[in-house]
Amino acid sequence: MRSAKIILCALGVLFACAPAQRISSQTSAPQRRIVIAASAVLDGRGRVLRHTRIVIEGAKIVAIDPKAAPVDYDLRGLTVLPGWIDAHVHITWSFGRDGKNAGAGGTTQEAAYQAASNAWVTLMAGFTTVQSVGSPADLPLRDAVARGALPGPRILTAVEPLMGRGEASGTPDEIRAYVRRQKEAGADVIKIFAANSVRRPETTLSQEQLDAACDEAKKRGLRALVHAYKDAVRAASLAGCTQVEHGTLATDDDLKLMAERGTYLDPQAGLVWENYLLNKEKFVGTPGYPTSLEGFAGMKTLIPMYHEFMKRASKIPGLMLVFGSDALAGSHGRNAEEFIDRVRDDGVDPMAAMVSANSLGAEALGMADEIGSIAPGLQADIIALDGDPLKDITAVRRVVFVMKAGVVYKNAARSPLKQASAPSAPRR
Ligand SMILES: [Zn+2]
Repeated sequence: MRSAKIILCALGVLFACAPAQRISSQTSAPQRRIVIAASAVLDGRGRVLRHTRIVIEGAKIVAIDPKAAPVDYDLRGLTVLPGWIDAHVHITWSFGRDGKNAGAGGTTQEAAYQAASNAWVTLMAGFTTVQSVGSPADLPLRDAVARGALPGPRILTAVEPLMGRGEASGTPDEIRAYVRRQKEAGADVIKIFAANSVRRPETTLSQEQLDAACDEAKKRGLRALVHAYKDAVRAASLAGCTQVEHGTLATDDDLKLMAERGTYLDPQAGLVWENYLLNKEKFVGTPGYPTSLEGFAGMKTLIPMYHEFMKRASKIPGLMLVFGSDALAGSHGRNAEEFIDRVRDDGVDPMAAMVSANSLGAEALGMADEIGSIAPGLQADIIALDGDPLKDITAVRRVVFVMKAGVVYKNAARSPLKQASAPSAPRR
């Protein structure tokens, strides 16, 4: 009998290995219960809870109860909040073996390992859900993380974006068929390019084409994200698309229209440009980037333009600003720098910045009843910062605890109790 039990344990049959006392003390099926003690909890919806405890069973939060015991993780002295949501990343984009930007399409072993590494560093940085916008290479990574085979954030992907190319993008019917093919390929969301770039902001899809794309997405139960600048921003909102990416050069009237129509905006405050400048030798001459280092100088002039836009957008009443870092090669795991840019450089309220990556970010994904808040019934995606981001936004760099769906992936909190509490350790 004893050897049989050991074999069961080796096979990871948890119930056979759980301390007998715990099994006998529970009436229903045993489910691992974890209690986190915290002195400051940002609930993800704009409230601060003081001196309380979060109770987790399995993958979910089941209670907020200041008297819950015993405590498994003592996170007092830290700031506890829901795992962040990044609405715009390119999770597979990496630098290749030659050190150069390899973009999204790598199919080598190096590219696959690099994508897995991107997922790992993103999770370690406190991001428990990301939306990748997108690449077919996202699919096996998304599915491996979802199976628990690789550590990483929950990944949603657009698979293959619809590139606006004027008439060549197809008739409205052809565009509808394209959207359906993405859904069949496993897309969680549809990504549409309706403008070129901030420097060439011309619209690349007609209103009719954009209407077809976003309407078809809606009919298939998918959200539609539109890469847009200037006039394409208004067109995307009129087409009923879910969210505008970037949005720079939109007028206040365009932004007010978005607020009225409930179109989310995902602007960037600086990380993406800072990253290009930091890594210009790795991007130079690769597809879509300047062919000489001098060509990167112009990016410096774009940063103030993005700051101006973020400041202006954050003052439009009712406009819903989500958090999207546009993380790609060089910035995976540094996504939170975007919070610092928003708050330090653009005067965004720090609580609003946190909510943009918590409950509001979840709402934009259509997942507000699953993630983005610390409340009973939601997934136990919980992180802790060494510091208070409401007083010092650079605290977002100091993520010392990461739990996703009830599993602790990082626990670098300092007190002896915090370090001694391994998730599988007996608690009595
Ligand atoms: Zn992007």
